Amino acid sequence: MSTIDWNDLKFSYFQTKCYVQYTFKDGQWSACEYVEEPYIKMHVAATCLHYGQSAFEGLKAYRGEDGEVRVFRPEENAKRLQKSAKRLCMEPVPTEIFLDAVDKVLQSNIDFLPPYGYGASMYMRPLLIGSGPRIGVQPAEEYTFIMLVVPVGSYYKGGLQSVPALVMEDYDRAAPMGIGHVKAAGNYAAAMLPGIMASEQGYPINLYLDAKEHKYIDEFGTSNFIGIKGNTYVTPSSSSVLPSITNMSLMTLAEEMGMAVEKRDVNFDEITDFDGIAACGTAVVVTPISHIDKLGKSYKPAQEGIHPRFQELYERMQKIQLGQYQDQYNWCRIVSS
Ligand SMILES: *Cc1c(COP(=O)(O)O)cnc(C)c1O
Repeated sequence: MSTIDWNDLKFSYFQTKCYVQYTFKDGQWSACEYVEEPYIKMHVAATCLHYGQSAFEGLKAYRGEDGEVRVFRPEENAKRLQKSAKRLCMEPVPTEIFLDAVDKVLQSNIDFLPPYGYGASMYMRPLLIGSGPRIGVQPAEEYTFIMLVVPVGSYYKGGLQSVPALVMEDYDRAAPMGIGHVKAAGNYAAAMLPGIMASEQGYPINLYLDAKEHKYIDEFGTSNFIGIKGNTYVTPSSSSVLPSITNMSLMTLAEEMGMAVEKRDVNFDEITDFDGIAACGTAVVVTPISHIDKLGKSYKPAQEGIHPRFQELYERMQKIQLGQYQDQYNWCRIVSS
């Protein structure tokens, strides 16, 4: 679309042509519907509104240097949404429907997909909600699956940049046997207040420790933790961490680069033993962390500056997403446009 300034995109809502919607009713999923108005009409007693039957996903599509449209590992997002659905007693969205939504929402909004060369991409937001009525606390009988898209800009216009993080000692993100491992909407409402508090103190992201002992690292507000020590990539194995698809992919790339990968408990005091630390997730891929502050004390990794391994991991990942590097694991779904 000629009126979009591809250089000026942020990470914020942007109205495109339409979103796609599928409804589960009377025991079956409907065909795809295209909705142009950015509103949903639903029952006032819908369970998503009252009891938080709501889970989301986040993934990205990129216009490659070769002109192809690539979506990064959508089958993994489909699987994760199925896990979230099961945990929240919602009807899981079959992978075929999820992928149908990916293709259709992209094809119908293709004019909003940023061209190659701006560092911009199309953020895709799948959402599954209980849309049928209940007054007692029970699962709905009707579910709505939506996928919307927004063009988003690059975080890194001039290469990777590091940010400081803050440990919120008075808040937890997820209980040890709770729902931290699924992308339930309610987890994010709970994390907003500590997130805002950290941001007001000058920290773009905050780190959560394990809720039981506040001794081990869980993850950042919306991204996983990675530490690099020598030639080893370390990430926490906590059961209340959201299994990041970016982290999973970076672990594969790290092995490809000859690194060892460890998924284990990470004591907070280990921060200063790492050569470099970072956050990872779909939105930014890798965000190096300069230092982590906790109770007025600053914890810094052993090496100054951005660890070269983070730079290398970021570049490998980006090249796969843009079709500039062999996609040997078949991570990208090519959508005809
Ligand atoms: C979505 C999310 C991540 C990142 O997952 P990706 O699949 O890499 O985008 C990490 N932590 C939390 C809490 C999240 O919600």
